[in-house]
Amino acid sequence: METLAQPVASLTGIGPQSVSRLEKLGIYTVQDLLFHLPHRYEDRTRIYPINTLSSGMTVLTSGTVEFTDVLMKGRRSLLCRISDSSGYLTLRFFHFNARQQSNLSPGTLISCFGEIRQGYQGLEIIHPEYKIISSTDNITEPRLTPIYPLTDGLRQSSLRKAVAQALELCLKNKQQLTDWLPPTLLDKYDYPSLNNALLSIHEPEEQITAEQLQQGHLPALKRLAFEELLSHHLTLLNSKNTVKKWQAPVFKVNDLQSEVFIQNLSFQFTNAQKKVIEEIIYDCTSGHPMLRLVQGDVGSGKTVVAAYAALLAISSQYQVAIMAPTELLSEQLLTNFKQWFSSTTTEIVYLTGQIKGKARKQVLDTIKQGTANIIIGTHALFQESVNFNNLGLIIIDEQHRFGVHQRLALREKGQTERSRPHQLIMTATPIPRTLAMLQYSDLDISIIDELPPGRKPVITSVIPSNRREEIIEKIEQWTIKKHQTYWVCTLIEESDVLQCEAAEKTFEYLTQALPNVNIALVHGRMKSTEKDTVMKGFKNYEYDLLVATTVIEVGVDVPNASLMIIENAERLGLSQLHQLRGRVGRGEQESYCLLMYQSPLSNTGKHRLGILRESNNGFVIAEKDLELRGPGDVMGTRQTGLMQLKIANLNRDTDLLEPVQEAAEIICAQYPDSIQPIIDRWLGHSNQYSEV
Ligand code: ADP
Ligand code: MG
Repeated sequence: METLAQPVASLTGIGPQSVSRLEKLGIYTVQDLLFHLPHRYEDRTRIYPINTLSSGMTVLTSGTVEFTDVLMKGRRSLLCRISDSSGYLTLRFFHFNARQQSNLSPGTLISCFGEIRQGYQGLEIIHPEYKIISSTDNITEPRLTPIYPLTDGLRQSSLRKAVAQALELCLKNKQQLTDWLPPTLLDKYDYPSLNNALLSIHEPEEQITAEQLQQGHLPALKRLAFEELLSHHLTLLNSKNTVKKWQAPVFKVNDLQSEVFIQNLSFQFTNAQKKVIEEIIYDCTSGHPMLRLVQGDVGSGKTVVAAYAALLAISSQYQVAIMAPTELLSEQLLTNFKQWFSSTTTEIVYLTGQIKGKARKQVLDTIKQGTANIIIGTHALFQESVNFNNLGLIIIDEQHRFGVHQRLALREKGQTERSRPHQLIMTATPIPRTLAMLQYSDLDISIIDELPPGRKPVITSVIPSNRREEIIEKIEQWTIKKHQTYWVCTLIEESDVLQCEAAEKTFEYLTQALPNVNIALVHGRMKSTEKDTVMKGFKNYEYDLLVATTVIEVGVDVPNASLMIIENAERLGLSQLHQLRGRVGRGEQESYCLLMYQSPLSNTGKHRLGILRESNNGFVIAEKDLELRGPGDVMGTRQTGLMQLKIANLNRDTDLLEPVQEAAEIICAQYPDSIQPIIDRWLGHSNQYSEV
């Protein structure tokens, strides 16, 4: 074991500079090197004759220099034509010097490695790695060459040498790594030992091809991917178990205040809301921190459930912090809470990054002195400068916009030595069960599976964008009927600037096309006060039509708006479309959503949009989205800053998700001592979850 814990500096060829570069990759010890896995492989096992090459291949080839030429046209470049008995190939260099040109004199035999592409004059390689050789003997490698993730200044070759030493010291010397996976599991899945798995990933057996590794069917790779996913899952479970052992404020239910609060609402709780409230009460009176995620479809009434939880805290003399991902949404929360708590003496304050100077100081003072009972804001709430007086409950709305990291970091806030605040997290984006394990296994989950009564499903149609004029006419009719409309401009990548430009153009166009319609524009680059004014204006029916970017995804509640047009709908994720659509269907009248797409629409595209037409259920939509896009993509867009996986690939290794959960249960129950070593081994020094 000593060898494993040995610092990398003890290896030959690793000086102080390399040590600090390796540290940037989270590599401190010999063991860390073993778990620094190649992210791809290069195939230098054979020399490809030139006439077998085609664009896109990355290969080793060889030939004799025919001529070199400096090309002055366009970007100055050095061309070198080589040939073997089968054909010729061009090598192209944009960075070069005179010596290089003279070295590549006609008749010189060279080997070169790089990606083949189609050039103007046949196939070429840009900036190949090349070597002058005396013969083509002994230039191939016996096995695939691993390519490791690097950091600035660190070379592939030095890393490879260091890894080779680590392998020599630990794996080949039978200085066995402890295999923390229980033998029953290894048997069940027929996995190789950890030792052998690591060896074959760093030094693939000679018969293994790059394709085999990419496809991920190799038992060695499967095993490591399994263990990696397990380590992430265990981290979350572990965090939950740790938090659950801490003390937390014991909230008391004040029947009178609850009564007053409920009386003040203009509606009755649904059964689903009541059930979740019971679960929250149970947690908050238990003496240990609540860690609860409330999932509920758009419009299912999560906010008022959160407000009820806040009531519990303030009735017990604790402060509540409520965080939303955007200014717009936090302002909306503020409006709702002010209304719901209007008949009480509760002091509600508002804090975002926009609030500066004296006003900010004033808010910070009330938070610190404890005169503020409910503090609503954006993530600015959790900056260093904010000191709570007696924080008992943290509420996070629309959690899908925040990453796992932020959530875990929040746990550090508001903790005294004895006690930690309760946490309530709300999301309208249902996460399929299989993925929940990688995102939410540090939480208990409640589901609001019922909409308030009287909601009508939104009637959805899928329409090509060349029917735009027809749609514009429909808006006119809609306006005459005294209903309001949203027009949502979307672009891929959520590039803010482009999205706003698109919205501005559409706004101008519609203003011309619809002279009798009052149109407003709202987008993410407007000042929050401007946005607020526009949104309020729309809510007060000063406008008939609101042209918007996806900023309206969350936060607006305008019951009279009952038509929504979404441009480029085919580019958005289904769940996001569903969220957007949730802005209509909030009033008495029938609501419509028109999903506009650019023709031609692929079959998958048709199928995807068809799902939205058929279903108004966020959970069903999320499952389908997962099926069609794969977990990697679903999580990738939704979770900013998701963990970096070294070897597992969520789209490829979907079949591992269930077994990993089973394994985690077995390990937690029967082998608790294995938990920390597995986590340390895979996530140890990089400790990604605590860095925010
Ligand atoms: P979401 O779950 O999407 O956050 P909201 O909390 O914004 O939904 O609720 C949507 C609307 O439904 C709000 O106007 C809210 O006041 C209202 N609402 C919440 N609960 C009920 C209920 N039980 N009956 C009727 N309306 C409700
Ligand atoms: Mg909400």
